[in-house]
Amino acid sequence: MRVFLNPGHALGGNPDPGCVNSRYHLRECDLAITYGSLCGKYLEAAGLEVKLLQSHNLYGEAPGYPCVVDAANRWPADLFLSIHVNAGGGRGAETYCYNFGGSGEKLAHCIQRQLVESLAPIDGGYADRGVKAHPSFCVLRNTTMPAVLVETGFIDSDDIGLLTQHGDEIARALARGVTDYEQQQ
Ligand SMILES: [Zn+2]
Repeated sequence: MRVFLNPGHALGGNPDPGCVNSRYHLRECDLAITYGSLCGKYLEAAGLEVKLLQSHNLYGEAPGYPCVVDAANRWPADLFLSIHVNAGGGRGAETYCYNFGGSGEKLAHCIQRQLVESLAPIDGGYADRGVKAHPSFCVLRNTTMPAVLVETGFIDSDDIGLLTQHGDEIARALARGVTDYEQQQ
């Protein structure tokens, strides 16, 4: 199985670091590439093929920046996983698919379940915010394979303990979510 990993926002934070926590000098782009890189290693160790491309494009592809949708569609990937960190109030994980009823939703549940089962035992405040449909994300709308976008936690909440100290658990959970999905095929 070919897995396309897309850590969110721009490599190095330019032009788009994603959400930030300036008090703790945390940026979404750095956390996302950390989880994505580790996740890719675990997936390769499990025998899957992996491509990883960080990109700031969520609502449309912009000229001059990596086009993750095109790259995934051309490969072609069997599965697409965009990795993000949330902000703006709340705690825990939520995973988006294009719409309900398809393979994307199945993949989203696999990812969501693994994240919650891995992290909630470490920090009981880490909430299961569920699987949601989000048809306006271009990485979900324009990809031709099952695609999800995962928000691994909130950068402006007590989730930062998990986000900064347990990145390896996050990466392993994402990888297990993918292999859980693969085994259902
Ligand atoms: Zn993001």
